[in-house]
Amino acid sequence: MLRAVCASANPHKVAEIFDLMGGVIDLQPRPADLGDVVEDADTLVDNARLKAVAVCNATGLPALADDTGLEVDALNGAPGVRTARFAGEQATDADNRAKMLRELDGKTRTCRFRTVALLRFPDGREVIAEGVCEGSIAEAEIGERGFGYDPIFIARDGDGRTFAQMTVDEKHELSHRGKAFRALSQLLKNDSPTA
Ligand code: IMP
Repeated sequence: MLRAVCASANPHKVAEIFDLMGGVIDLQPRPADLGDVVEDADTLVDNARLKAVAVCNATGLPALADDTGLEVDALNGAPGVRTARFAGEQATDADNRAKMLRELDGKTRTCRFRTVALLRFPDGREVIAEGVCEGSIAEAEIGERGFGYDPIFIARDGDGRTFAQMTVDEKHELSHRGKAFRALSQLLKNDSPTA
C-alpha cells in the first residue's frame, strides 16, 4: 500500500481523512514539530499544494492534503477560499457560523462545499481530485456533531438534517470531502504509477 503523510493538522479533518483513505493509503500523521503553513493562495488547489509541499519537503514522503471552501450564492460565491477566515483572521468556527447566519438573514440560502484533495510525491508528481456537495444554510444551528459549518449546512441530497446531526458515515456518503477522497482513491487505483 502507498505510504503518505496526512498534511492536515485539524483533528476533526484528520479523523475524517483517515476514515476515508485508511484502506487505500497507509496514512501517517503529520509530524507534530512541523510549523503551521500559511494558507494564503487564491485557489483551493494552490492552498492544498502549499500544505502538501511543506509536508513533502519535511518528511521526504508523499503528502496528502485537502482544502475546502463554502460557496454561498447570495454572497457571489464567498467565502470560498477564505472560508476559515470568514469572520476575521482569528475567527473561531462559532464566529464564522454566527456571521454566516447574520449575513444571510432574509437572503437566498443555497450554497455548496467544494473540496480539493491532492496527493503530492516528492518528485513533484501530483494526483488531484475534487468533490462538491450542494446544499443550503439552515436558519439556525442544529446538531452537536462534526465541526466548522456542519451545524448550519443542509446537504441537498440528504434528508433535511444538518451535517452536525449525522453520523460520520452518513456525512461521508454525501459530503464534499467524501466525494473528493473517493474520486482520488479511484484515480490512484486506475493509474497512479506508484499506488
Ligand atoms: P479547510 O480548508 O478544510 O481547512 O477548511 C476551510 C474552512 O471550511 C474551515 O472553516 C472549516 O471549518 C470549514 N470546513 C471544511 N470542511 C468542512 C466540513 O466538512 N464541514 C463544515 N465545515 C467545514
